[in-house]
Amino acid sequence: MGVKALGMLSGGLDSTLAAKILVDLGVEIVGINFSTGFCVTEHTRNFKDETKKPLRPNEALRLAADLNFKLHIIDISKNYLPVVTNPKYGYGANMNPCVDCRIFMFKHMRELMKQFDAQFIFTGEVLGQRPMSQHRHALKTIECDSQLTGLVLRPLSAGLLDPTIPEVKGWVDREKLLALSGRSRKPQMSVAQELKMEDYPQPAGGCCYLADPQYSKKLKDFFENNEKTDLTLEDVIMLKVGRHLRLSTQIKAVVGRNEKENNFLKAYESGRHVFRVPDHASAHMLAEIKGEPSRADVQTLAGILARYSDAPKESSVRVEHQFGENIETLEVLAMDEASLATWRL
Ligand code: SF4
Repeated sequence: MGVKALGMLSGGLDSTLAAKILVDLGVEIVGINFSTGFCVTEHTRNFKDETKKPLRPNEALRLAADLNFKLHIIDISKNYLPVVTNPKYGYGANMNPCVDCRIFMFKHMRELMKQFDAQFIFTGEVLGQRPMSQHRHALKTIECDSQLTGLVLRPLSAGLLDPTIPEVKGWVDREKLLALSGRSRKPQMSVAQELKMEDYPQPAGGCCYLADPQYSKKLKDFFENNEKTDLTLEDVIMLKVGRHLRLSTQIKAVVGRNEKENNFLKAYESGRHVFRVPDHASAHMLAEIKGEPSRADVQTLAGILARYSDAPKESSVRVEHQFGENIETLEVLAMDEASLATWRL
């Protein structure tokens, strides 16, 4: 019977190389691609203007097709939220709970190993590449907490790490594995060329919203103005879309930045205050308001949307405000840029 390994594959350059190395060593692999709800690539695919730059394919799927193995895309987003709201090992430079995230995913991998009858798992991790989760101590903590000690092979850095069970048992030839470390992706690009992988994914990084400073600012703002445990998958999505302006603990406005975002926001009007400019082209704006807004609050919100419309800036603009069935029309001046800057997240 051959050896079977389960790979945690994002489709990035590192996991692509890890998969290629094991396939070349004769290991049967099955790919797992987790969807946490915070994936930048998937979101970009939905919201990008494809007339400006062609969209990249799903790299994990493309890899599976190129190397001829099965890939399973597994949605773990619902149970993932507590990892984000209450991480045991805290956050990284942004709101990225990388150590807890890896433990959560590895625990899933442990269960999937049984389901797929695999002997070990592998990842594209590189020692020292990510400051929070890929230093030696973190790698050990993650393995230990997920009860996978010795069963995680990292083909790109194996030569620098303790031998794993698949290496000790001779399922995989340790001599054929790499000893890469550090943050530079240049060595991986050379390896890709050596392995004759011509169209490999760019080593771009930045695949997770939780590691993105702008998204993290909005998530932090959510946690400061709500109970952390109130976070829902709908909030996770809303934080990815539009400009966000925090006016007070009770009031936040979300303004679409392009047609796709405006259309998206229209699908999320329920339970939110909606603002429109009927006489001019404008962005779509939703306001999340706790309790009853004052007249001044509504005027301010209408002024914000007037600013994001094509209406002349110095003259009064008609703005519709709808909440539930109630619609009113206001006449306002566009909000000044200095005020917007103080509210923008
Ligand atoms: S960057 Fe995001 S997906 Fe990657 S380990 Fe950190 S939290 Fe998880």
